[in-house]
Amino acid sequence: MDRWPARVSIREVGPRDGLQNEQPVPTADKVRLIEALGATGVGRIEAVSFVHPKAIPQMADADEVWGSIKRFPEVRYSALVPNVRGAQRALDARFTEVEVVVSASDTHNRRNINRSTDESLDDIAALVEMLHGAGATAEVIIATSFGCPYEGDVDPGRVAAIVDRVVAHGADRVAFGDTTGMATPTRVRDVVSRVRERHSEVPMLLHFHNTRGTALANILIALELGVTEFDASVGGLGGCPYAPGATGNVATEEVVHMLHDMGIDTGIDLEKMIDAARLAQEIVGRELPSGVLRAGPRTRLVG
Ligand code: ZN
Repeated sequence: MDRWPARVSIREVGPRDGLQNEQPVPTADKVRLIEALGATGVGRIEAVSFVHPKAIPQMADADEVWGSIKRFPEVRYSALVPNVRGAQRALDARFTEVEVVVSASDTHNRRNINRSTDESLDDIAALVEMLHGAGATAEVIIATSFGCPYEGDVDPGRVAAIVDRVVAHGADRVAFGDTTGMATPTRVRDVVSRVRERHSEVPMLLHFHNTRGTALANILIALELGVTEFDASVGGLGGCPYAPGATGNVATEEVVHMLHDMGIDTGIDLEKMIDAARLAQEIVGRELPSGVLRAGPRTRLVG
């Protein structure tokens, strides 16, 4: 029965999306965490973002972090950039995989960077060209793909039209961000099937926040639709910038725990990922929301 894929690729985003939404932590702790994650067997790690330190002080030491970590040759590391300046920093730091962001919601995009979605798409065309010219790949993340905190529901047709543009600009991969945890299985089905109708060939990655507890359900339905790439954050690090106190990205060890039980290979050692989650919890100094971190895997017996 191949209801589900045999293998799923997880990108660990705790060091970036997670820590960006936590109180700032020391550089040495970030290095320890990224190295612990590299040892878990995870295939990809979003390590840093090159943003203006005034905008996001949590990422001010990106160069130092990246320069200090012991890198695992089998792990693909990536960086997120907001603009040409950030892209140049990522290239100078020799990143070969770079992510750029645009918001599907015009209001969200304007509030973030004071540009319309359309204007940002023009900027992205130039960014993709710049990255490709330097031999790097360009992934475009479409934020608020499943809902916007200012506009509410986002039309899947609008998301698909943005995919048309970024594919025309040469994006190597498209990610769909549930920036504020508004995705539900119904909305995931609508967006994924709408995009797949037009772009069956484009590598697609889904990024869920567990703000309202629907992240694993969203992943399950995405698997049924044939999606095999997901972001997750160790321990469920992070939060939601629009909902104070909300939980962060879906926890990596919870995703791995579910997938392995379904017979889906991730390459990740679950126990090592739980250890990394414990380290993440220690570093941020607060209890993280992961049930698998708290209770251990279902196969762990009492005795
Ligand atoms: Zn996110």
